[in-house]
Amino acid sequence: MKKHRKRILPFALVLALIGSIAWASDWTVLRPQNRPYVTFANVAQFYQFPDYTRVSRTVSLRSDRRVIRAQAGTSELSINGVRFFTHFPLLNSGNEDLISVMDVSKIIEPVLRPSRIQKSGKVETVVLDPGHGGTDQGASSSWGTEKSFALDVALAARAQLIRAGYRVEMTRATDVAVSLEDRVNFANRFPNAVFVSIHFNSSSGGSGVESYALAPEGVISNASSEHHVSGADTARHAGNAQDEQNIALTASIHASVLTRLAAFDRGVRHARFHVLRDIKIPAVLLEAGFISDSSEGQRIATSHYRQQLGVAIAQGIQNYNAAVNYRSGGADFAVAKANLPPHTRSISEPLGAENPVETPYHHPPSISINGGD
Ligand SMILES: [Zn+2]
Repeated sequence: MKKHRKRILPFALVLALIGSIAWASDWTVLRPQNRPYVTFANVAQFYQFPDYTRVSRTVSLRSDRRVIRAQAGTSELSINGVRFFTHFPLLNSGNEDLISVMDVSKIIEPVLRPSRIQKSGKVETVVLDPGHGGTDQGASSSWGTEKSFALDVALAARAQLIRAGYRVEMTRATDVAVSLEDRVNFANRFPNAVFVSIHFNSSSGGSGVESYALAPEGVISNASSEHHVSGADTARHAGNAQDEQNIALTASIHASVLTRLAAFDRGVRHARFHVLRDIKIPAVLLEAGFISDSSEGQRIATSHYRQQLGVAIAQGIQNYNAAVNYRSGGADFAVAKANLPPHTRSISEPLGAENPVETPYHHPPSISINGGD
């Protein structure tokens, strides 16, 4: 790999180009494969993780309340135990493990520091979008249909959100067909709102929960199933104006669902589903489990499980709202900074390194995070 180090200015330019906020300047940008990357050591330093270890190809960044783990050669990382699929592969270059600037600015930054996301005010309205309906029943199995499970979960979330003081709008509240265009147009009528589309998966051998934010411009979709996919284009869409809110909301709901329900973590992913593309408010599409899986399908078929799913979604929205609106009043900038509750379920593959030999990172952070809020 060709190493080409440039300091400070190019990185600031890259971030300005992709619409991020002004960053402190102590970054070293490398350009493997002609794409801007930074080292995980640099990420640890910038975000003030005092404990940075690198064992084999697994890097761990730890502080009191946050942990990032990643492995070069893969396209995933974990933040507080929650699995994220990266936009570009994690690379290894000699003694350094690298992450793309896109993944730092579009995943790590908004998830670790949601309160710094620009233009994210208080959420007043939640638009819930139960997938499918009417003659379109979505996925189905002997346990039931996606359309009816999704509606039931949305109704449970609605009740919980209303109790928490939110205005709740539904793209459908009964078993009727609604076009994807109508769902988006309906959602776009509400200011200070977020949009949550609720679906279930079906395929042989699959189980677990996966959540989708709109793929940023230039990033290929990594949807696990094709039945919602709009195509492999990498164009910019209206929803990309909310990239940072989208990933923070998606991560928050995903983490809340995993924390409340013992589901397998299929990760926070990105795609260009119709309802995510043209929407003008922060949006997420949740695939809340596989109705085709014999044990997960049986659980989803119980009203108790769907009730818990609805409560978890509502809690995730509340966590997001609190996180993006958090304003620091004191020195403890870490409080309420992370959007993700700690999630202790292990990610089975491929991030685990058995009993890593710790190699302390000896250089304390030397830069300040602007403002620290
Ligand atoms: Zn669906």
